[in-house]
Amino acid sequence: MKPFKTYALIIIYLIVSVPVLYIASNLYSNKIALLIIYSLITFLVLGTILHRGLKKFNKFYMNERDMLYNILDDVDAIIIVWSKDLRVFNYNDCFLKKTQYPPDFLKKAKNIKSVFLLDYDNHKDIATILDNRDITIKCSDGSCLSVIWKTTVIQEGKQPVYLSIGIDYTQILDMENKLTESEKKLDIALELSEIGLFLRFLDSDKCFISANLQKLFGFSSQEILMSEFEEIVHPKDVSLVHIYTQNMQDATIDEFNKIVSIDLRIKCLDEGYRWFNYRFRLSESFGLDLPVVGGSLIDISKDKEKDTLIEKMAYIDEVTQIYNRNRFMMLGQETYSCSKELGFSYWLIILDVDKFHIINDTCGYQNGNYLLHDIALTILKNLASGGFCARIGSDNFAILIRNTGDDTYPVTLVKKIQSALFELSTGIFSTQTITASAGYCKLPEDGKEFSQVLEHAEFALRLGELPRSNIVRYDNFAHDKIIQKSTLEKELENAIIKNELVLYYQPKINLITNEVIGCEALIRWIKADGTIIPPNSFIPVAESSNLITRISEFVINEACRQTKLWQESGLPPISISINLSSVDFYQTNILKTIQDALDATGISPELLEVELTESLALKDIDHAIRQMKELNQIGIKVSMDDFGTGYSSLSYIQVLPISLLKLDRSFIMNLETDEVSRQIVSSVINICKSKQIEILAEGIETESQAVILRKSGCNHAQGYYFGRPMPQSEFETYFRNALKITL
Ligand code: C2E
Ligand code: MG
Ligand code: MG
Repeated sequence: MKPFKTYALIIIYLIVSVPVLYIASNLYSNKIALLIIYSLITFLVLGTILHRGLKKFNKFYMNERDMLYNILDDVDAIIIVWSKDLRVFNYNDCFLKKTQYPPDFLKKAKNIKSVFLLDYDNHKDIATILDNRDITIKCSDGSCLSVIWKTTVIQEGKQPVYLSIGIDYTQILDMENKLTESEKKLDIALELSEIGLFLRFLDSDKCFISANLQKLFGFSSQEILMSEFEEIVHPKDVSLVHIYTQNMQDATIDEFNKIVSIDLRIKCLDEGYRWFNYRFRLSESFGLDLPVVGGSLIDISKDKEKDTLIEKMAYIDEVTQIYNRNRFMMLGQETYSCSKELGFSYWLIILDVDKFHIINDTCGYQNGNYLLHDIALTILKNLASGGFCARIGSDNFAILIRNTGDDTYPVTLVKKIQSALFELSTGIFSTQTITASAGYCKLPEDGKEFSQVLEHAEFALRLGELPRSNIVRYDNFAHDKIIQKSTLEKELENAIIKNELVLYYQPKINLITNEVIGCEALIRWIKADGTIIPPNSFIPVAESSNLITRISEFVINEACRQTKLWQESGLPPISISINLSSVDFYQTNILKTIQDALDATGISPELLEVELTESLALKDIDHAIRQMKELNQIGIKVSMDDFGTGYSSLSYIQVLPISLLKLDRSFIMNLETDEVSRQIVSSVINICKSKQIEILAEGIETESQAVILRKSGCNHAQGYYFGRPMPQSEFETYFRNALKITL
């Protein structure tokens, strides 16, 4: 009940009861008894009103205080109200809950000291409790709570009252301790495993390193600046760190979590630079706002040392101490793929020391090795930075260098090296001229893969083999021709084995009598499918290989055999001419082969004629004369074929022991129209006549050509007009028919 209600009730009672008492006193004579009754009633009524009013009053005010206490009880903080003499007035539920003390414990203990684990000095008690922000509270079971303590005075005066609020951080402390313990374990594990951790925060220059790295690198803290770290990275590897840092900063979301691994040298506190492998990735996880780059840093110096040794053994050339072919191939393959991918180009140059075998022979093998070493040094000295040089063969060196767009660069570089090599011709090598030839290619365009580019550069080198100090660029076209040639060579060799070579015979005619005076054996290659390959398509290839010797042997034997067969079949003896190439004439004992064929068949040497071209005489005229004379001696006639082509020189007619000159078709074909041709032909005919050399006109295709030649004094002829080269049986029929006509 509120106070004013109580007052109102009292007033109402008095207003009502006083008139009642007055009326009662008039009616009732015993006034004393009446007063006693009135007093008793008044006492009871007023007592009841006041009691109820007080009760309500108390209830009203007590509710507010309880509410406050309830709130304090609900707070998750320990609250204790105490006085200067350390007496406890009150505390909240949280205190009891956390300490597990019975509700009246502190009230009984009366002294706040009994719950604090402090080494109190009596007169300092209050100051200690007031000042101490970290306090340990003993619990009923003997365990302790770590509390952050804050005390304020809530009542000043002689007997001040304090309110202390404490936040229990025992669990946080536990966690912290556990974390520190885990950190310690991690540090020990890292130390034992020799793995360091390196974390870089991309938003700042800050990095975090594990304790073992901190010790190893000599940093005062585990938190360092990137600039501090870069100071201990080897100057040659700093750019690598920059590149990767930049890459990480520019990384797109797809590149997150990609593992990158780099090797770099880092200066350690006591040991100087050591090799480390940093295996890291960019990540946005770990609850950090900005991406971090982090990973392991492992000392790989020992592996590197091993690698260097293995690399040295596998990739360094003993003699020159520069890289060897293996290393060159590896680097070349990498360069090839990079240049293809990125659109760069490189020069691949191969240098070959000219006539190195002579240096070895004359100066000794050991000195040859010294020279190779000096040559390697000379090349390295002249190589621009970024160039790579290796010894890829005994006296072959290869250079790989970026193409900067100047196509003349390889030649300039090789010339520079060549003039530097020239200076090595001193001391023991003073009698030698140290020169080198080069073949070069561009990659990637000069080959489908690196090994092919290298082959092509070697091919270019071989092309320029003969003269010294040659520099040859690889030529795709020339190479294709050579490939074709070698394929043809193989096919031709097979053709010889499979007897696909056949002789055709073209008649030679006496222009005066029209008689068949002989024939020329002309070779054909008839393939299995019936294709006929003319000699001009394979004889040059055969001449550049040793196949021509085998072909000539076949021609000699076959011509003699056929002549013999014709004789045996009753045909009159007919002379047969064969064509020999200059290779036969200079490299093989052709005379013996001919003699053997004649002996084997028994045919008369007079029936065999050998046709040689002018170019043959050109090479070594004395040798040519000697050989021809020897042929003459065994009774074989020698004719000069294709006169008028190439190096036509009438002077040869004066010196060469020939019995017949064959005028080339190129003269004959213009006879009818060209007066000059006619004059040349008649002068050649006259000279030959004066030298008793017979003359035969080749390639007569028309009657008028035959007529002009006959008139000019040419007695013999050959050409489609009289008969094409034909197979043996056909020629036999032709010959028999011709005999009938003349008979
Ligand atoms: P060659 O010795 O001057 O032979 C004459 C060539 O002229 C033959 O060509 C023949 O078919 C061709 N011929 C003859 N009359 C005419 C004509 O009226 N008009 C035209 N357009 N051509 C005519 P073939 O048989 O193709 O031989 C070409 C060359 O191959 C020969 O020229 C000869 O140098 C060489 N050869 C042929 N057989 C052999 C051989 O067994 N050994 C060697 N080393 N070379 C041979
Ligand atoms: Mg001929
Ligand atoms: Mg000819």
